[in-house]
Amino acid sequence: MKELLLNWERTLSTVFIYPSLFQNFQILGLFSQKIPFFHKIPYTLKIEASLEIPLIFPHQIHSNHVLEINSHFLKNRKGDALITEKEALLLGIKTADCIPILISTQNKELIGAVHAGWRGSIKGILYNVLKIFLNKGFKPKEILIAMGPHIKTCCYEVKEDLVEELKLHFENYKKFLIFREKKFFLSLEKINLFQACELGIPFKNLWFSSDCTFCLNHLYWSHRFHKKNKRYQISLIGKL
Ligand SMILES: [Zn+2]
Repeated sequence: MKELLLNWERTLSTVFIYPSLFQNFQILGLFSQKIPFFHKIPYTLKIEASLEIPLIFPHQIHSNHVLEINSHFLKNRKGDALITEKEALLLGIKTADCIPILISTQNKELIGAVHAGWRGSIKGILYNVLKIFLNKGFKPKEILIAMGPHIKTCCYEVKEDLVEELKLHFENYKKFLIFREKKFFLSLEKINLFQACELGIPFKNLWFSSDCTFCLNHLYWSHRFHKKNKRYQISLIGKL
């Protein structure tokens, strides 16, 4: 598998980042850097000549809607999180500044991929996903969460209307903001961390990328930096 992923990474001219937290449990989860403009986003991973694993992406709409994948062929894929117990597929999320979040139980029974921009984060998408994990009987201490590269508080300036929106949803909204030079900066990481903590996920079960997509715009696509150029990095998790 290692060799296969290495080849795939080269073919896509990108770099895959493997959260150490997942590696400790042999969970296949990764965040890509830029998929260059001359490559299409892949929709399968070729394992052998006769075996291709599908990559399932939702039609992302900045919602808090979670899709449970029981078959490879979903008619309506509108939503911003995927979860599955199925094997032989990869769940994927596309991002360029929003935060990609990958989730797995320690035994890899249930996995999930989440796209959380400010809208999804405020609407509690991670909370919704984790609720499903808990409702299926998994304990908070069994759930592992990796938060990938996204625009960070060094660069993510937000306007007052977003701050007002945040206020409506979270009493402790000030914790998610930094006030600097008369401007507000939002931490997507902290809003999502709060949702995980609320549901009792231990801090040691969380992994955070230190990369800011805007600062490292030579490595990552950033909607803020690259403006109208709608390109993405991909984040994948699977049971193969
Ligand atoms: Zn930055």
